[in-house]
Amino acid sequence: MDPVRAVKGMYDVLPEDSIKWQRVEAAFARTAALYGFREMRTPLLEPTRLFVRTVGEATDIVEKEMYSFAHHDEELTLRPEGTAGAARAYVEHHVHAKEAVTRWYYLGPMFRAEKPQRGRYRQFSQAGGEIFGDPGPGCDAEMIDMLVGFLKAIGVPGVEVLVNSIGSGDTRQRFRDALRAHFEPKKALLSEDSQRRLETNPLRILDSKDPRDVDASKDAPTILEHLSAEDRAHFDGLRSLLDALGIAHKVDTRLVRGLDYYTRTIFEIKGATQKLGAGNTLVGGGRYDNMIAELGGPSVPAIGFAAGLDRLLIAAEPAGAAAVVDAFVAPLGAAAMGPALVLARELRDKGVSVEADTRGASLKALLRRANSLGARLVLILGEGELGRGVVTLKDLAGHAQEELPKDRAVAIVTDRLAAAGAVRREEPSS
Ligand code: ATP
Ligand code: MG
Repeated sequence: MDPVRAVKGMYDVLPEDSIKWQRVEAAFARTAALYGFREMRTPLLEPTRLFVRTVGEATDIVEKEMYSFAHHDEELTLRPEGTAGAARAYVEHHVHAKEAVTRWYYLGPMFRAEKPQRGRYRQFSQAGGEIFGDPGPGCDAEMIDMLVGFLKAIGVPGVEVLVNSIGSGDTRQRFRDALRAHFEPKKALLSEDSQRRLETNPLRILDSKDPRDVDASKDAPTILEHLSAEDRAHFDGLRSLLDALGIAHKVDTRLVRGLDYYTRTIFEIKGATQKLGAGNTLVGGGRYDNMIAELGGPSVPAIGFAAGLDRLLIAAEPAGAAAVVDAFVAPLGAAAMGPALVLARELRDKGVSVEADTRGASLKALLRRANSLGARLVLILGEGELGRGVVTLKDLAGHAQEELPKDRAVAIVTDRLAAAGAVRREEPSS
């Protein structure tokens, strides 16, 4: 049989890297908690119509990126993003009736069938958050503040905040008409995709990376000219709050974002351009004040964001782990195996991470294994040690060797490791 490989655009995370994922995820959860966000989880599968209705029919995601399938009489889709599911859950559980403002965060895999490349995968992970129930620009500013803090905490270089407003009510329709009028005479100069978008969703032309579309967009009208007084006040409010928070930001009038559900504030955060190149958008977000009502809920304003964790890991290069275990227990000879396993368990009960050899390997092989695990201490139990009631302790860092009374070995090892700052885990609470 041919070797089975992972699905194209999807990848495994092995232990050397999963420690980095844990670090970034923990930093995100910590930052989110500092800002009063609580974790929520939704299923990976949702009814297809949820995404068609919220993300929007004429978007890249719905047009060509969704993993959708029929199962019996259900049309299902592997979630391509997290906001739609969070909003569905918010409506389904009548959360608005329980609290005036809701701050949720989530972490997990998303699925989009796009062309794989560096920083762009078919299964990727997002860390996202939503605030429901607050219409003002204050929570928009606070969300961006939290994200900038998070990116700096994990060491992303060159963080850049871009904001724009997409307006509300009929602003978007008026802007759409203005864009159509602008692009219609240049239709032949646009990419094939954008010629189609001219009919279905001309805003998406501004989002295109095709050089022909970028060129034709240069002197296009900007949405800021079409904002209502209320939309304008919201946008100005956000900008002055970002100034008050000391967050440098740029207004990017080309920014439209790829999803249909946005109203008023939209933003992107870029960073680490040297490592990521053009695909340097780390976070995307925006307000979606109409979605909850469109999903059959009450009229509740909302804003959300999603950060791409795969790209954050490339951007931040978090450190890997120094050591796999603190200590290694090495039985020599069959009779030593039982006592060695007991000794290993006693050490673990004190919070010392231990691998015990269960292969019956030679002393040379055992020491090589202990070294490769980064263990600081090796406890050797051979026939001689068993007879004398001792354990041989080898300090791989200090290259020293000594015999310890067996009944004192756990206490001495624990003390040594604590003094060396090596015991990473907390004592069990029992
Ligand atoms: P892009 O313009 O890069 O395609 P997008 O607008 O489709 O991004 P969003 O739907 O806003 O992206 O998702 C938010 C973030 O999730 C992105 O900024 C990016 O960091 C990450 N992301 C999106 N799609 C992918 C993917 N296929 N692989 C890895 N990360 C992704
Ligand atoms: Mg995309």
